[in-house]
Amino acid sequence: MSHHSPEDRLRRLLSLVGECRRRRNETRDEATLCASICSALTETGGYPRACVGVPGPTGYALIAGSGAPRSVSWEEATASTTPTITLELYGEPYDFGVLYIAASDAGGFADDERAVLEHLADDLAETIASLRAAMAAQLMESQLRQLSRALESTSNGVMITSSTQLNHPIVYVNPAFERITGYSAAEVIGQSGRFLVRDDLNQKGLNEIRAALRSHREGHAVLRNYRKDGQLFWNALSIAPVRDEAGGITTHFVSIIEDVSERIAYEQQLEYHATHDALTGLANRSLLNDRIGQAIARARYEQKMVGVLLLDLDRFKLINDGFGHQPADNLLRTVASRLAHCVRETDTVARLGGDEFVIVVTDIEDADDVSIVGAKILRSLAQPLSVAEKEVFVSASIGIAMYPRDGDHGEALLRNADVAMYRVKEHGRNSYRFYTPEMSQMALDRLDMEGNLRRALERDELQVYYQPILSLQSGQMVGAEALLRWCHPRIGMIQPAEFIPLAEETGLIIPLGELVLRQVCQQIRAWQQAGLPAMHVAINISARQFRQEDLAGNVRRALDESGIDGSTLEFELTESMVMHDIENTLTTLRELKALGAALSLDDFGTGYSSLSYLKRFPIDTLKIDRSFVRDIDRDSDDAAIAHAVIAMAHSLGLKVVAEGVESETQLQLLRNYDCDFFQGYLFSRPVPPAEFTLLLQNGKQLPTTGSTP
Ligand code: C2E
Ligand code: MG
Ligand code: MG
Repeated sequence: MSHHSPEDRLRRLLSLVGECRRRRNETRDEATLCASICSALTETGGYPRACVGVPGPTGYALIAGSGAPRSVSWEEATASTTPTITLELYGEPYDFGVLYIAASDAGGFADDERAVLEHLADDLAETIASLRAAMAAQLMESQLRQLSRALESTSNGVMITSSTQLNHPIVYVNPAFERITGYSAAEVIGQSGRFLVRDDLNQKGLNEIRAALRSHREGHAVLRNYRKDGQLFWNALSIAPVRDEAGGITTHFVSIIEDVSERIAYEQQLEYHATHDALTGLANRSLLNDRIGQAIARARYEQKMVGVLLLDLDRFKLINDGFGHQPADNLLRTVASRLAHCVRETDTVARLGGDEFVIVVTDIEDADDVSIVGAKILRSLAQPLSVAEKEVFVSASIGIAMYPRDGDHGEALLRNADVAMYRVKEHGRNSYRFYTPEMSQMALDRLDMEGNLRRALERDELQVYYQPILSLQSGQMVGAEALLRWCHPRIGMIQPAEFIPLAEETGLIIPLGELVLRQVCQQIRAWQQAGLPAMHVAINISARQFRQEDLAGNVRRALDESGIDGSTLEFELTESMVMHDIENTLTTLRELKALGAALSLDDFGTGYSSLSYLKRFPIDTLKIDRSFVRDIDRDSDDAAIAHAVIAMAHSLGLKVVAEGVESETQLQLLRNYDCDFFQGYLFSRPVPPAEFTLLLQNGKQLPTTGSTP
């Protein structure tokens, strides 16, 4: 264009600029814009060729051109015989490309012309940038429209909060949010989402959410949230940051709220069933183990003790057998609730099955605190219970083991509590005992004991000993009490107190009782044949034996086998045995009497001790319990009781035997009270048959005593 006058050039450039501005506003897409600008350059600007290229992998790619042959490469399009100019199309973050223009003649471009063309290129680049921005905005808008349609219809609650403002105000909530929480959008927009947890701030999940918010990352937690009406719901919350595309800063958080209350309730129910006893609702064994573990861990840290009480109801089997399962189950439920009332909220009451319960007492400074619980439980159980509309009394045997003294884990504590509990059973039940290491030296635990006792029966480890009974008047032996002994090959002599209760519970008492009966009958026969003085022998009968099918029939068979007379036998019963089921009791007592046997009431003074009812039974003898005789010379009450019992028994036509006489003084007092017979270490311990035979042969008798003190 150099051959034209400067005025011409200026006019042309001005109309080019006007044309380009017009075209710029006409078009809405990038490629058309570039093509249109190029043609303006050739048509209005008079340049032979104008092209736009964008950077590609191998140099520029032609995207628009005018005055150039069609479909040519960038190189071909820009091959020119006249001078050319290549103008950058500046952009952000990358330049868009270049605008190429060939000059109309060899003179090239004048300076003012060059400036106008640069301005045109800048204008083009700016237009491209704004087209792209508009395009992006449009795309975003349609995406947002789609997104919000999805948000409106989803069943999960969505809450969007702004994280560029303090307090993270809510900027959006969807309808599901309103439905789940009960709050309307209007009520919550602008507020912090914190109101959903109210003051229930002690939740582990909250820490996770807070940490995620702080470090602008995703987070998940299940939280206890509260609806507008105050009702709790479980929120499986997921939060995710929304980042600004250009700057990478977090502008918002999207929170997805899923109401999982039903699932949690179901899980809690499952968990409850897995950890609780269905019958009583108490903790079951698995939860118990957890709780003991936790209690020990805490006690270790706080330098305190834990008490583990193992409780077994006494004679529960009788209730179960006697009343049936349903009433027995009700009884267990009542017992469970009484136990729960005896302890603190933080303690655990568990049922191990059957009639076995465990109480874990925590936060203990002193073993005494646990004995208070033990005593409280016994007192609470002592209140009468109603089973099948009958009043029933239950009692329990409780063994106690203490952490750290008796073990440092649950299993050891339970085992030792069991050992202690069994000790209680042996020693009259309805009581509690602390475990002591000596108890374990007994070497036989309960299970062992049962198996051992069965074997003992087969292997003749059981033997009857005899303790002489003497007349206080004549000082002569008049009979003996048969007392069972178990000579264990490993442990040695085991006393009846240690195995009779077990035999009673397991039913082994029946064969055991028959063994005693048979041995006694054979022995009496042997003494008779040896021509020794006639002795009657007293045999102890336990409750279960007494209620067995045909007790009298068994006795008769034993008598027949040995060929001795029924009058040589006496049967010792206890008050509690005869107090129940009076009709059947009377029948059995009469049958035994019909065989010629005598009947005595053992351990008198320890039970109901009601003399008036005794009139109803065909009893011959009363045996005053050892516990009264023991202190008769020291305790005036005991002396008075013994004296009164003897007098009243006599008035009812009964003879009286004093048990456990160990001293001369006791003997003298009993003589003063007019007691008829006695037995005790003073004269002889229970001895094996051979030794008893010697006593008989030697005609041993009470040495004549001095004058009455
Ligand atoms: P029980 O019928 O009251 O027997 C008296 C207990 O007092 C016996 O204990 C006897 O050894 C003990 N004894 C006698 N004199 C004295 C004394 O002077 N001082 C002291 N400290 N104790 C004395 P044992 O032999 O240990 O029997 C305990 C209980 O076991 C008996 O109490 C009885 O209820 C039961 N028993 C023993 N043998 C049999 C049996 O063959 N069958 C049944 N069913 N029970 C039995
Ligand atoms: Mg006895
Ligand atoms: Mg007795």
